[in-house]
Amino acid sequence: MELKVIENATCTFCGCVCDDIELHADDMRIHQAKKACILGKSWFLNHTAEKKYPDALIDGQPASLDDAIEVAANYLYDADMPLVYGMSNTTCEAQKECVAMADLLGALLDSHTSL
Ligand code: SF4
Repeated sequence: MELKVIENATCTFCGCVCDDIELHADDMRIHQAKKACILGKSWFLNHTAEKKYPDALIDGQPASLDDAIEVAANYLYDADMPLVYGMSNTTCEAQKECVAMADLLGALLDSHTSL
């Protein structure tokens, strides 16, 4: 099996945004992530193009994305002290939307790096 080599890939896992990662991949998964730290390697190597999970869960049960968004919106709307948290595995565009949502809600915004 011949792997495609992608030079200077960016890791968005922890926020350091290392941009010199060398990825070796086929159409389904990344097999090597050279120059990535142990967290970055784990992140790259454990995400595949396979569909392993439902689009969304509500109370642990598979749900449609639309239903899950509605439930999440209701939780956030009803919250006294909303927290918008995470964003480590998301694109810049998605993070921008999270910031806008936190502003709209008057929420606290935090990433996993505070751990
Ligand atoms: S997880 Fe590691 S490789 Fe990825 S951005 Fe952070 S320090 Fe860089």
